Amino acid sequence: MSSDKQDTVKTICPYCGVGCGIQVKQGEEPGDVQFMPWGDAPVNEGRICIKGGAATEVVDHEDRLTDPLIKEDGEFREATWEEAYDRIVDELERIREEHGPDATGFFGSSKTMNEENYVLQKLARRYGTNNVDNCTRMCHASTVWALRTSLGAGAMTNSMRDLREAADVFWIQGANPGEQHPIANSQYFRQAVLEGATVIQVDPHANKTTRSFQIDDTDRHMHLQLNPGTDIPLLNIVLKTILEHHEENPDEGWIDEEFIEARTEGFDHLKETLEEFDKEAAAEECGVPLEDIELAAEKYAMANNAAIFTGMGMSQHACGVDNVQNEINLALITGNIGRPGTGVNPLRGQNNVQGTCDVGAMPNVLPGYQLVDDDEAREAVETEWGFEVPDEPGLTNVELSHEFGDSVHGLYVMGENPVMSEPDANRVAERVQQLEFMVVQDIFMTETAKYADVVLPATTWAERGGTVTNTDRRVQRMRGVDKVHENTKHDLEILSEVGKRLFDDGDELFEFDDPEEVFEELRQVCPIYHGMTYDLLGEEGLHWPCYEPGDEGDPYLYAEEFDTESGLGHIEGVRHTPPAETPDDEYPLILTTARLEEHYNTGTMSRRSPTLNRQTPENFVDVHPADAERYGIEDGDEVVLKSRRGEITVEAQVTEDTKEGVVWTTPHFAAASANKLTNDVLDERAKIPEYKAAAAEIEVGIEP
Ligand code: SF4
Repeated sequence: MSSDKQDTVKTICPYCGVGCGIQVKQGEEPGDVQFMPWGDAPVNEGRICIKGGAATEVVDHEDRLTDPLIKEDGEFREATWEEAYDRIVDELERIREEHGPDATGFFGSSKTMNEENYVLQKLARRYGTNNVDNCTRMCHASTVWALRTSLGAGAMTNSMRDLREAADVFWIQGANPGEQHPIANSQYFRQAVLEGATVIQVDPHANKTTRSFQIDDTDRHMHLQLNPGTDIPLLNIVLKTILEHHEENPDEGWIDEEFIEARTEGFDHLKETLEEFDKEAAAEECGVPLEDIELAAEKYAMANNAAIFTGMGMSQHACGVDNVQNEINLALITGNIGRPGTGVNPLRGQNNVQGTCDVGAMPNVLPGYQLVDDDEAREAVETEWGFEVPDEPGLTNVELSHEFGDSVHGLYVMGENPVMSEPDANRVAERVQQLEFMVVQDIFMTETAKYADVVLPATTWAERGGTVTNTDRRVQRMRGVDKVHENTKHDLEILSEVGKRLFDDGDELFEFDDPEEVFEELRQVCPIYHGMTYDLLGEEGLHWPCYEPGDEGDPYLYAEEFDTESGLGHIEGVRHTPPAETPDDEYPLILTTARLEEHYNTGTMSRRSPTLNRQTPENFVDVHPADAERYGIEDGDEVVLKSRRGEITVEAQVTEDTKEGVVWTTPHFAAASANKLTNDVLDERAKIPEYKAAAAEIEVGIEP
């Protein structure tokens, strides 16, 4: 064991955005690592879900990549690091010379750390392009857009702790913390509910959140089971109900007039938008009784502190920005923001999706969400870095993949798997083969890496240190044990080496001895992290914004003013936009998608974890009993689920969890991923794809 390593290290679970602390114990041999609870970890106080408990299972997995690979005549061969670096540098230089810097894209990863993503985006910008993005594009790009534009920061307004202590009503729309954020759900939200908080869940699918609060339609808690893609009409009913009630009963305070007057702009626009809005017709479109939505509106408006939780059921639509804007409207007109137990709170999916955005691995922002087209902000970063950054936003990851073989010819992928994670995955697999050159650095031979020209073996989460930022903006340190395979390298080491070899000034710009050195540079160009150092982060971490050393960080935002140009929260009425694809004679069902507790995105790690894979080894589709009867499907039958883009063969689960006419499946399994069916139409501002609604059909009677 190397002398700078400890036997047992405190680190952070590599899976979801809750940011639970765990310990990893190093055994006698490299790769002999064990999970241990961390009893007083700041977020989870020792509790852990099934994924966190199984996280060490992939560290020494037999499928680990152990040596660099170069493709020749369609086959991979083992190569030295020198050969691999030479090939990467030659190809990236050639593509830039022949097609210009915007002909290459860079994919950062929410599975890697802040320091690694910071260096990746710096590498892209030194190369001369803003074509750098990460998987937030697939999950919360629209949320980030709406929150940043209307409130100031693309992140949770509150912290899990203040929500637990102060919220009376949890409005959970398109999010499923029971499944996706198990410790946030059990340790924070469920505690609040046990102490009297009310849950209003808005979701087309009944799920673990529904069951964990034992929600029924008439009791204290409510589940509004709407049709996919009708979130705007549902929230417009809520908003109009509150406005109407306030007009007749101004003393009851359903609307916070003082707050609207002092702290917001755009209220008149909202009122005008709703003037002609027909609540009855909208309720029919949503597939939810009007009186239920009105009752939910009353519960939210009457709360002392009401908090909104928003998830990918809201963000992954072509109207994703509008969906989230309507949640912001609800919080602002009722004054439910800027104090504990309130706000609009996106529950982030991956353990570092928040941080990957924070450090600038996005095409329109530099570290700290400073816009690339804001001259003053960009020039300040350029001065620190010593080179110019393009002043126009680059392409997002789905836009890049739409351009493979046309205007985009090179791709650098760190820890991502776009061939499975992007919608219309069959087309992505075809297009990725049109690239002139692709390098992938990862721990396993992913579905994407198979198409690469160079594959670089990276180390796992347990073998290296750095920082990650969880869903409530808490930056925490990860610490590593021994490297399992001698010839693998940490992502940071790889990026640093590529940077040094690729640019004349690379030795100066990319010479980093360790992650702390990178963090020290990051804090100079990222004002919201400026007050943090590794020492100050300690074991507790710090919430951003943390502007100066000694700041304790803000658990909740906007107590005094919003971080917008005017300092006001922006209200804006929005109108319903139906999903791009709606059912028709050929594809009469609505397909919607979501994830499972035991799996993690494209399953690269979770499908290789025996404990997790045992729980759900294959994909399935939920079918409502009425649809099952129409199609002649029995529970457990194998069916073909089809859309205009592809088909998958899966087992049918006949269940009332889904609505009649709606089928529900998951993206985790390579052979039968939902993304072979999903639609790659984008929200025009945030460029997030519409994973949550597509037209589909089921074929039955398949011979095994
Ligand atoms: Fe890991 Fe999330 Fe489970 Fe916590 S809740 S152990 S962070 S997967």
